[in-house]
Amino acid sequence: MSFDVVIRGGTVYDGTGAEGRVADVGVTDGLVAVIGSLEPNGPEVDAAGLAVAPGFIDIHSHSDYTLLMDPRAVSAIHQGVTTEVVGNCGFGCFPIGDPQQARRAIYGYSDDLPLTWSSAGEYFETLDAARPAVNVLSLVPNGQLRLATLGLVDRPADAAELAEMQVLLRESLDHGAWGYSTGLEYAQEQAASEEELTALARTSPFYATHTRKRDDGAADAVAEAIRTGANAEVRLQVSHLVPRNGIEESHRCIELVETARDAGQDVAFDMHTRTFGLTNLYAALPAWALGAEPAELAAILRDPAKRDEMRPHRSILSAGNDWSRVVLLDSEIWPEYSRRDLASIAADRKQEPLDAVYDLLLGGVDELHKLMVIIHAYSEDQQREAFAHKLCMPGSDATTLAPTGALAESSFHGAYTWASWFWRFMVRDERLLTPEDAVFRLTGRPAERIGLSDRGVLREGARADVVVFDPQAFAERGTVFEPNQLAEGMRHVLVNGVQTLRDGELTGERAGMVLRR
Ligand SMILES: [Zn+2]
Repeated sequence: MSFDVVIRGGTVYDGTGAEGRVADVGVTDGLVAVIGSLEPNGPEVDAAGLAVAPGFIDIHSHSDYTLLMDPRAVSAIHQGVTTEVVGNCGFGCFPIGDPQQARRAIYGYSDDLPLTWSSAGEYFETLDAARPAVNVLSLVPNGQLRLATLGLVDRPADAAELAEMQVLLRESLDHGAWGYSTGLEYAQEQAASEEELTALARTSPFYATHTRKRDDGAADAVAEAIRTGANAEVRLQVSHLVPRNGIEESHRCIELVETARDAGQDVAFDMHTRTFGLTNLYAALPAWALGAEPAELAAILRDPAKRDEMRPHRSILSAGNDWSRVVLLDSEIWPEYSRRDLASIAADRKQEPLDAVYDLLLGGVDELHKLMVIIHAYSEDQQREAFAHKLCMPGSDATTLAPTGALAESSFHGAYTWASWFWRFMVRDERLLTPEDAVFRLTGRPAERIGLSDRGVLREGARADVVVFDPQAFAERGTVFEPNQLAEGMRHVLVNGVQTLRDGELTGERAGMVLRR
């Protein structure tokens, strides 16, 4: 028997959690043909002393749009990622009603690449044409459903609007989307009612939710998600479950999921690998201000009476009113305040923190997306506990990036570091997971959640998404303020049987597929 390539002599972790064993993997026509002991025959990859695993599946990606800008997925391939699940947190690229509005729920939007499509099917065709290096599948983002139907409003949908959203959701699923997602902390979705969400989730086979109030009342919101999942009879994924208000609330959230699972509900959760949240500074604004055009918004931000109206708005940033946790990332608009926290910036300016926020936004009113902040919110104890939990899997919660090309100047923490951090921290340093279990959480587990039957496990007949890495060296290099550094230790990556990374270098091949359900 001849093979397109034989991966020889590595320790194979098959993605089911089964014990690693030394074996050869023969790949033919994009499929795993044989796992066993193979005679030399044709091209080989020497995997002696290395780990061989299914390609990693990023169940919580935001690469919907950035893959169109740079389809090489460099940050992901260097971590062994071969499949990304996009459309998370209610953000994504379809359905597009008003392109101006839609930009609010797309990570990394740039006017250089306008939204020329509207339906899921048209977006998938656009993505196909870009030829991404990784496989991509998408959820249907509730943010876009709402923006396309209601616009940016602070109220639940009425019956006619809900019916319209259901039509759009069904159409998107028919075009090949895999589920439905919400981002209930964001302005465009905050006012969605539980009834509305239940009715929509019922239309879908899978529901991933970024829950409400993740810094106060997080457990109540997780309980709502569990009720929604149960009432809608849908497979449920609680996105980045760990809340931002301490380990006690973390315990409550995890317990709620555990209890529901023990009672027979199909529910699990994911978590990103940062100890901080990352968002736009403009998240501090209420929907009515956020909806304003730049000139109008500038007038609002200047007006003391309007400021007083905005002050009570609770946002992802106002957690416990502790502005020392919120740090401005490098910004050409306010270089003097880059890498500093809002409490100290406000003190410098002899202002209340919210007034400093409004002033900073005013300075960047034409390019609001350039003002990014991190919110210190999680401890390593919370990470240890969450990632060791049997129902947890890691996700990037980021866009894929590349140190060169159109995305070189962009940053999104986690992009370069998530899977590599997970391996280095959980397997090698903390020894909280065995290699078998860690691989399972990066492959077989997310595949099972999303309903992928031919990926995520190395077995004969499966798609040949395969990674070969040094288990003693696989680690992240990116840091909080220097995030854009490739991970190390990943040696070979095959996507659909095509070698995309060879000896740690990109081959230039882009063999990913847009996966339609
Ligand atoms: Zn989210």
